[in-house]
Amino acid sequence: MRQAMSEWNAHLPEYRRLCCNPQTHNQSYYEYGSDFQNRIYKHPDGDDPTLAANYWHFWTGTGVLYESNMVFSSRQKWINGAAADAFGIKSAMKHEPGHTLGLGHSSFWIAVMFPTLPDNTVRCDLKSDDLGALAARYS
Ligand SMILES: [Zn+2]
Repeated sequence: MRQAMSEWNAHLPEYRRLCCNPQTHNQSYYEYGSDFQNRIYKHPDGDDPTLAANYWHFWTGTGVLYESNMVFSSRQKWINGAAADAFGIKSAMKHEPGHTLGLGHSSFWIAVMFPTLPDNTVRCDLKSDDLGALAARYS
């Protein structure tokens, strides 16, 4: 996760850079809600096929983001790389911080911010579409 955030941060002004708590939590995100810490959770999500999700907390009125929690399904088979019937954890860990930065999904299928990640796929390198969306938001 630190590597993924570092790669996003390389394209951001210093005051907008991501930071994270390196601990991973096995408890459900839903048991905790907001605690003013950016956390990463592993969560068994029942029948939900979603690989990962991102939950934000904003200050009411100002709209300033003060917390972003990422939840990765512990029901899925993750792999560092690519294999049939497994999902690339580095690809998902690169995608979710894009949402923390306010980016939506890309229609460019090789972009990190493409909405789906098939098995046996690595999508870790920020592409021009990802960087263009980032520049449009923070320039
Ligand atoms: Zn997404």
